[in-house]
Amino acid sequence: MSTRLPLVVANWKLNGDRDLLTNMVERLDTLNAEQVEAVICPPFVYLSEDTASIQKGAQNIASQESGAFTGEISGRMLRDVGCYYVIVGHSERRALFGETDDIVAEKVKATLSAGLIPIICVGETDEERENGETLTVITRQVKAVLDVLPSFSDSIVFAYEPVWAIGTGKTASCEQAEDVHNEIRQILAGYNHELANTTRILYGGSVNPGNSKELFGSDNIDGGLIGGASLDVDSFMTICENA
Ligand code: PEP
Repeated sequence: MSTRLPLVVANWKLNGDRDLLTNMVERLDTLNAEQVEAVICPPFVYLSEDTASIQKGAQNIASQESGAFTGEISGRMLRDVGCYYVIVGHSERRALFGETDDIVAEKVKATLSAGLIPIICVGETDEERENGETLTVITRQVKAVLDVLPSFSDSIVFAYEPVWAIGTGKTASCEQAEDVHNEIRQILAGYNHELANTTRILYGGSVNPGNSKELFGSDNIDGGLIGGASLDVDSFMTICENA
């Protein structure tokens, strides 16, 4: 039995509003914090809202600390408004905004140096899985971050999100997800055993109230990163209760 506290993270992407945040926080506040940690990652403009005991996360971070970088938000600013987590390297940022493994690694460093916890997303495309390259891709993406990690005592979170399962309604089977999660834990163990034991590895990709219980029942799946289903209060609440 793992001692890692399950973590369930809502990734609202470019969706949601203040009312949804208020309603979501009111419900999540009734969860037993000793059984599950729920986090909301709304768009930047809502990060300074009061969310009671519910932690907030950003969906992105600048790799720079300050300067002439129009439109960017730094780690210090995120911390200043009470943000605790940062999603780094989401597949949409990798595919649509050109974030390479090197950029993701820089953003992880920026997150940690601001005292925030990165939720590092990794995952293969449909084509990569078809070509039998899943583990090669995951290993490359995970190592790119671990190779630049300033300290192995820093708290980090990984999210395995197969790109073919994000927003598509297709979910990885428990066996497919558990295989990759186990692989990620082995890679972590190659760097530091304590890190491998304590790091939470989330699954993301069309998680919903119906499939979450089975997925979260796997040994190495410590919760979820939830997109579409996190925009509905009842659905997200049920997913948290299933963790
Ligand atoms: C995500 O965007 O991180 C995600 C997992 O989305 P969805 O749950 O909609 O597949």
